[in-house]
Amino acid sequence: MSTANAVQDVQLFIDGQFRPAADGQLRDVIDPATGAVVCRQAWGTVGDVDDAVESAARAFVSPQWSGLTLKQRARLLLRIADAIEEDGAELARLESIDVGKPIIFTQGFDVPQAAEGFRYYAGMVEQIEGAMRQAGTRSFGYTRREPLGVVAAITPFNFPLNLAVNKIAPALAAGNTFVLKPAEQTPLSSLYLADIMSRAGLPAGVFNVVTGDGPTVGARLARHPRVIKLAFTGSTATGKKLIAEAAGTLKKVTAELGGKGANIVFADADLDAVTQWAFQAAFFNTGQFCMSGSRLLVHRSVHDELVSRLTKVIEATSVGDPLDPATMMGPLAHRAQLDRVTGYVALAQAEGATLRAGGNPVDRPGFFHEPTLFTEVTPDMRIAQEEVFGPVLTVTVFDTDEEAVAIANGTPYGLAAGLHTASLTRAHRVAAQLAAGIVWVNTWAMFENSIPFGGYKDSGYGRELGPEGLQEYQQLKSVVVNVE
Ligand code: ADP
Repeated sequence: MSTANAVQDVQLFIDGQFRPAADGQLRDVIDPATGAVVCRQAWGTVGDVDDAVESAARAFVSPQWSGLTLKQRARLLLRIADAIEEDGAELARLESIDVGKPIIFTQGFDVPQAAEGFRYYAGMVEQIEGAMRQAGTRSFGYTRREPLGVVAAITPFNFPLNLAVNKIAPALAAGNTFVLKPAEQTPLSSLYLADIMSRAGLPAGVFNVVTGDGPTVGARLARHPRVIKLAFTGSTATGKKLIAEAAGTLKKVTAELGGKGANIVFADADLDAVTQWAFQAAFFNTGQFCMSGSRLLVHRSVHDELVSRLTKVIEATSVGDPLDPATMMGPLAHRAQLDRVTGYVALAQAEGATLRAGGNPVDRPGFFHEPTLFTEVTPDMRIAQEEVFGPVLTVTVFDTDEEAVAIANGTPYGLAAGLHTASLTRAHRVAAQLAAGIVWVNTWAMFENSIPFGGYKDSGYGRELGPEGLQEYQQLKSVVVNVE
């Protein structure tokens, strides 16, 4: 192991303390760029989950947390944002090692976005408000937006830091306490964030992290009677299981699940810009992005030209060491992901799609795969219907706007979609017709904290970011006053 990749073993974070799992078990954390063990993580038990939930339940009613004024709560979130930036270099390094993300992106996107997420919701704390209703002559009423209690989150391996912060920041802004279970492949940034938050002054028990596997730690959180809300990001299959598990205790659930984003290129689009956006949409984060634009739908008149430009960009892209500042594309985050990608590449070829670029794992240690482009993909092929979650872009040709919309909407998913056109009327008309929680026009993956995202159809329900993201962590009480 090189010193650059050295990481200490990590423990659970419960009630303000790092501690081993109850039974002392540890599991390896693997560096996807080398396949080597970087450190070991505590492997949480059901008892550890129960301890974390009890600690969060105590903190919820503690004067140190529930007694804070709104101004104090807001200031605490701002201090966390500053602390994330102060410790940003180490946080970015851990995320790059753990996930295989290029350091240029963890430093330039993941970490700043995490700090800004806390700042955005810090700004909302003092704006939490209800409404006054003049009910009639006998009474009037008003509403209060109250916290829920203990919130649990289960996050996936692709954006461990950001997908956690999208949940933690609004949950704490609303006054809740929190237990996080990060993905078993990528626990490091969540635990480091716990340390940062604690050093910034967050009272013990407000934020807890239990690492471990889904069916043990995740399932206990989903079933735990004292967890009032579960925020999940991950695959549709696991999401459905969790929703069923959470039903027994009537938990509120938000679920951001899989996607198969259609990126539509109309004949009047600016092909220089489209080439760049289409590439980023498909290959950002090595394609491990539920909001990726993995299906490019291209008008017949510009198909050949766009495919030729994209092929050149893809062939000029090399994968590399995530810690090298020149690297733009890293490995898949873990072994099973690489196997999944090679499986889908073989399937696409068997289904009759034409391989135009890439198509192979990279011959070096770790879990690298070439960026890959398929053309002659028809909408019914499995490669055009199922989420690959890797660096594979498919191109499907269309002739009319109606056909493009029908193909775009023709999968079970509905998370993100995009369209490229010079026509203002077409842009707004088609945006309204797309069955997706977010539609990007002449861009892709342009995120703002103020703009919510989430799923239609099998991509789940609930929204993250924006004021809507805060409301997911609040409950509404009506107070009615007799004035007779
Ligand atoms: P992906 O890795 O494809 O996103 P999952 O949706 O299975 O896969 O994983 C997302 C998160 O869900 C991870 O933290 C994982 O540990 C957790 N998880 C997996 N299976 C379960 C389960 N049965 N119950 C609770 N959590 C689970």
